[in-house]
Amino acid sequence: MIEDEDFIKTCDVPGPTKSEIRAILLYKSNVTADDVVVDIGCGTGGLTTEFSLRAKKVYSLDKNPEALKITEKNLKKSGRFECVDLIENDGVSALKDIDSFDIAIVGGSGRDMEPILDLVDEKLNSKGRILIPCILVDTKVESVNKLKSLGYNPQIVEINVSKGRVIDRGIMMMAQNPIAIVSAKKR
Ligand code: SAH
Repeated sequence: MIEDEDFIKTCDVPGPTKSEIRAILLYKSNVTADDVVVDIGCGTGGLTTEFSLRAKKVYSLDKNPEALKITEKNLKKSGRFECVDLIENDGVSALKDIDSFDIAIVGGSGRDMEPILDLVDEKLNSKGRILIPCILVDTKVESVNKLKSLGYNPQIVEINVSKGRVIDRGIMMMAQNPIAIVSAKKR
């Protein structure tokens, strides 16, 4: 497990995904050493780094060049850089150049969730898994509707994590932002 504090961060790039959310995503992905993973919107590389330790190959893409620089640093510090392709491009263009994969994570989509999920569906191997961590309510609704229209049966889980801070008088619980995970499996 990689602690949140172990990641190199910069104010220009969001992430890393918090450790409890990473743990649930890894569990839901059922990732094995034979899997090819695509991380669309890799940000700081929180998920790319975790998946690089467990998968055969990871395609990690982001439209922000700063995200790829910081992802590379985190991979070299805590992951397996040699099994990751870093791609600077928007999700739709980058996905067109990737053949196929077993796990797709949509960590960032801007206004392109629908075309991204069309391409993910086209290139996802059978028994493949789709994972969409959502900060915005809108992303949750949009991705669920799109997955349904593509014939999937999406699951939605909302995760509320609070962490204890030990202070003089006791323990103070500090809430993190709620995150929804929308997930689906291909038949
Ligand atoms: N899961 C990451 C954080 C992702 S933040 C981590 O754990 O570190 C979301 C990222 O998605 C941002 O870096 C943003 O630049 C990227 N992004 C948003 N829309 C995108 C798109 N359409 N194509 C590619 N990257 C996109």
